[in-house]
This record gives sequence, C-alpha cells and structure tokens, in this order.
Amino acid sequence: MIRTAVILGMGGLGCPAALLLCEEASAAELPLHLVLVDDDRVEASNLSRQILYRDGDRGGLKVDVAARRLAPFGPLVEIESRPVRFDPSTSAQLLRTADVVLDGTDAFETRFAVNDACCAAGIALVHGAVLGWTGQILTVLPRRGSCLRCLFEGPPPPGALPACSEAGVASPLCGVIGAAMAAEAMRVLTGLPARAAGRLLVWEGATGRRREIPVRPDPVCAACGAPARAERHP
Ligand SMILES: [Zn+2]
Repeated sequence: MIRTAVILGMGGLGCPAALLLCEEASAAELPLHLVLVDDDRVEASNLSRQILYRDGDRGGLKVDVAARRLAPFGPLVEIESRPVRFDPSTSAQLLRTADVVLDGTDAFETRFAVNDACCAAGIALVHGAVLGWTGQILTVLPRRGSCLRCLFEGPPPPGALPACSEAGVASPLCGVIGAAMAAEAMRVLTGLPARAAGRLLVWEGATGRRREIPVRPDPVCAACGAPARAERHP
C-alpha cells in the first residue's frame, strides 16, 4: 500500500528531509507519495542551507526544482509539487491523504496551525525547527500522546523571540534536524516507535549537546485535550 508524506516548507529543513525520505523509502522498498508544499521561489540567500537548489535555479518555484532534483533518488517515490501556502484555506486539501506530515515551516503561527490541523485530523506530525544554533524536533501522535501546544500553549508574543530571518539559521544544523525529521517520519510510516513522541529533542549545535524535554499530555490542551476532542466529536 502506498503511503503519503507531506512536507510543509521546502527550505533549510524540508530539503534534507525530502532527500533522505526519498532515499530511505527506496532503500526500505516502501512505495511513497511525497507531497512538497511551498509557494516560495529560490533566492540567492537560500543557497547555503537549502541543499536541493543551485545558483541557476534562482526565480524558479522551490517545489518544482526540488521535485526535479529528487527524482533520481527515489525510484519508488511519486513526487507531487504543490506551490501553495499552508493556511486555513488550503489545510484540509493538503493534508487529506497524509499518513505523516513533516513541518519545516519557519513562522511560529504556522507551526501551531499545522499542529492543530494534524491533531484535529488525527494525522501524525513531525515538527522540526532551527533558530540560530539550536534545533529541535517533536513527534505528535494524535490521540496517543502530547502535542506542541501541550508544551508551549501557543506562539510567543510578537517580538519575544527573534524570527529565523533575524537570528539566522545555522546551515549544518538544518542538515541534522532535517535528517532527524526524515528518520522519524520513516519510523512512523513503517510502524516503529517514534523517538521524539512525548519528548522534545533539542540539539545545541554550538556545543554538540543534546537534551530531551519530556512533554506530558495536557488534559485541557486547546489542540489535543479533552475539551478540544469533545468540540470536534460532541
Ligand atoms: Zn496538546
């Protein structure tokens, strides 16, 4: 049976995650439908960490360039390009057939919207983020554990934390986190226990230190708690 993985954001995390997912799925002989979602075009400033793009790709849609580059790496992978933005108007359609979602988007609000949509639809989510030299992943298995909102409740107030564009993003750490996201998605797709379910795995790129922060389910979480579930299934 073909499985579907949806990658939101084909930037510093989406590029390595997509490449490794293609290679891993093919190595495991897992037929995979890989949906790439991003409405951005390749810019010169992307090239240092968004490893699927070259100088001559500038101006092209990221999802189209990525699909071309990935094709040789995934003989068993059917790649679909979706040059759209994840938002309330596109969410249901983009996630309709997903078995797992990999979130590599870079806006706090979008990450929580993705978390909420996956919790509501019962879709497994691998969340990844890098800011400066710190990276993290968390796997959300709806109805079987905690979610991003159980830990943080919601996006930080505007200005409380620097955005990726302000703090910068360490290119090598994008490779580490993107690879960890692909490995985690493969574990979800093949029925193995997720390593980052119920715990936020944090990499400190400057020191090489790795930390684990337990994330307990919040019974009144706005995305996955009892009130939210009752609202969806009264
Ligand atoms: Zn939750």
